[in-house]
Amino acid sequence: MILKIPEKLLSIAPYEPGKPIDEIEREYGIQKSVKLASNENPLGPSPLAVEAVKQSLSEMHRYPDGSWHRLRQKIAEKFKVDPETVIIGNGSDDIIALLCHGFLSTNDNAVMPFPSFLMYDISVRAAGATPVRVPLDNLAIDLDAVAEAVDSNTRMVFLTNPNNPTASHFSSNDFQRFIKKIPQDLLVVVDEAYIEFVRDPDTFNALDNPLSDPRIVSLRTFSKVYGLAGFRVGYGIMDKSVANILHRVRQPFNVNSLAQVAAAAAMDDVDFLNTSIRVMHQGVDFLRAELSAMGLTTHPTQTNFFLVDVAQDARQVFQALLRQGIIVRAMNAYGFDTCLRVNAGTESENRAFIQALKKVLAGGSPKE
Ligand SMILES: *Cc1c(COP(=O)(O)O)cnc(C)c1O
Repeated sequence: MILKIPEKLLSIAPYEPGKPIDEIEREYGIQKSVKLASNENPLGPSPLAVEAVKQSLSEMHRYPDGSWHRLRQKIAEKFKVDPETVIIGNGSDDIIALLCHGFLSTNDNAVMPFPSFLMYDISVRAAGATPVRVPLDNLAIDLDAVAEAVDSNTRMVFLTNPNNPTASHFSSNDFQRFIKKIPQDLLVVVDEAYIEFVRDPDTFNALDNPLSDPRIVSLRTFSKVYGLAGFRVGYGIMDKSVANILHRVRQPFNVNSLAQVAAAAAMDDVDFLNTSIRVMHQGVDFLRAELSAMGLTTHPTQTNFFLVDVAQDARQVFQALLRQGIIVRAMNAYGFDTCLRVNAGTESENRAFIQALKKVLAGGSPKE
C-alpha cells in the first residue's frame, strides 16, 4: 500500500473504551458479571424511554428529524434558553469533535487538564491542532495553571467538572476567578457529564446562568444519570454564533430517531432520575465506607464513581477481580498505578464487588 497517512493523525492512539460485558464474559469464561467500569446507570434505561422507543419502531423507515426539533425544544425549556443555542450530538463525544473541527486548525492549540477525558486530546489532534496538557494538582484541576498555559495560539480550553477519572470538582468562585484571566477570543468548553450527581452546592454549574458569557460552552450527556449510553445522545448549550459553526460541520442526521425519542422521554421521567441519583449516592457512600473499613484510601467524589487506592499494582487487582466476574477500571494508563476507578452499582452489585475485592486482597500478593 502506498496510501499517504495525514501527518496530523500519526500521533493519535485510538481511544480504548471499556470492553462490553459480552466480550469479557467470553474471554474469561464467566457469567452474570458485575460491571462497575463505565459510570453507567446501574438501574438501566428510564422505563418511559424504553416504552417511547417501542412505540416509535414502526416509523424507522423515515429519516430522523435533522433539526432535533422536539428534543431541542425540551432542553431549551428546561434551561430557559433559545433553542438555537442548543446543539445535539451522537453522544457528547460528537460535540467535542464538532467543536474541534469547527474551531481548530494547524498551529492552533487547545489547553486541557490531564488526566481527564481522553476524547479532548484525540479530537484536537484529529483537527490538526495541538493538545496542551496541564497536570492535575492533587487529583484536582489546577485552574491557575490552566489559565497560565493559554498562549497566543490557544483557541479552546477544556474543563471537566466534575473531572473524570478523578471525580474532583471546582467551585463557582474558582471559575469566576479563572474566566477573568481568559482572553475574549477563545472558547471555554465545560464538560458537565456528571453534574447531576454533584452534592456540594458551591460547585460551578455553567447552566445556573446559561449564556451569560459567549465563550462558555456547557456539554451534557444522556449517557450517565439518564441511563441511555447505548443510544448515544449528548448536547451542548452555547452562543448562537458557535452553534452556527457546528451546523456547518455536523452530519445532517447525526442523532438517530430512536435516540431522540428516548432522550425526550427520559427527560420527563423525573421519578426515575431522582431514584437513580439517590441509588448512586447511596452506592458511592456504601462502597467508600466499606473500603475505608478495609484500610484502603478512597478519594472524595462529587460523582457516581471514585478512585480507590489498592496499594499494589492496580492492573493485577483488576485482572483478579475480572476472574471473579467483577469489571472495574485500572488507572495505570492514567498514571495512577495503584488505583481502581469504580462506579456505584445496585446494592447487590456493590456487595459483590466488596466481597470479591476482599478475596482478591486476602489471597493476593504477600504483604511486605
Ligand atoms: C462519559 C463521559 C462523557 C459522555 O460521553 P457520551 O459521548 O455523551 O457518551 C463526556 N465526558 C466525560 C468526562 C465523560 O466521562
